[in-house]
Amino acid sequence: MKVLITGGAGFLGSHLAEAWLDRGHDVTVLDPAGDLKVRHLRVNPRFRTIRESVLNREILDGLVAWSDLVYHLAAVVGVEHYVGDPYQVLTVNINGTQEVLTAAFRHGKKVVFSSTSEVYGRNTAVPFDEDSDRVLGSTRTDRWCYATSKAAGEHFCFAYARMGLRVVVLRYFNVYGPRLDQLDRGRVVTIFIGQLLRGEPLTVIGDGSQTRTFTYVDDAVRATVQAGLRPEAEGQAINVGSEEEISIGDLAARMIRITGSSSRLIFVPQDAVYANGYEDIPRRVPAVRRMHELLGVRAETTLDKGLEQTIEWFKRP
Ligand code: UDP
Repeated sequence: MKVLITGGAGFLGSHLAEAWLDRGHDVTVLDPAGDLKVRHLRVNPRFRTIRESVLNREILDGLVAWSDLVYHLAAVVGVEHYVGDPYQVLTVNINGTQEVLTAAFRHGKKVVFSSTSEVYGRNTAVPFDEDSDRVLGSTRTDRWCYATSKAAGEHFCFAYARMGLRVVVLRYFNVYGPRLDQLDRGRVVTIFIGQLLRGEPLTVIGDGSQTRTFTYVDDAVRATVQAGLRPEAEGQAINVGSEEEISIGDLAARMIRITGSSSRLIFVPQDAVYANGYEDIPRRVPAVRRMHELLGVRAETTLDKGLEQTIEWFKRP
């Protein structure tokens, strides 16, 4: 099978590319970023990267025509972008998704769209099942542009599904693992690992009572592969996540215990970190029935095991 992965040079895409190559398939990554996270795959003759944006219509169309299955992961992600460059977030995430779906529809190819648990916004009624309400703030608050852009992408998916496109929407819940971000940048797991490895205090934002469920990348990738293979997933939105809910304060303590570090916790007021009215999500837990029933996948990696493996990877020379 020929698999196209837009945004495939990123964290999740690089693991997904690896998984399809391991199964003996051909993989092409379309990504304007450098290929640092897929550099180790370049020796494989079944693998190639095209350094271009999904907004390049001609290139995109040719690659979709070549492929049997399209994973659309390309997006502008990261809190700094939501509040720093909402125009770019909206353009790439909404227009890019429309371009990919249009090309896939034209060529009759199946699409797996990577959405996010962010679409549920600050809804506090956890666990979120896929039909739960989306609770977002005002459009005057830039931080909601990412959730809005991904939700618009989902609407496009379902609009195309009505016209006959085979499409699956996956909503990922805080996926982590090797190659996540650069240390100290991006998401909480990599920020804490950077601080731990230097023996510095772990910066818990707010009072640390906000919760997440962290999903180890291998589990997320197994679900993503199955979404590409199983016809019963088509036309559905499916949460991809673990049910192991943990507060950020407890996550910090857990990571200190796992590494045996002498780091302590410091609590940083939200206002000091998040400018422009950024608002944290208080709780985020998925309902995972659809993931089990439609994809046949459960998140099997415990948080302890996943953290150990991730920390080990970041410690390597
Ligand atoms: N967080 C934290 N300290 C940090 C970075 C993040 O306490 O140095 C918190 C953040 O406020 C949020 C949680 O960790 O409650 C997860 O943040 P992340 O940016 O990784 O993902 P998201 O908020 O999108 O779930």
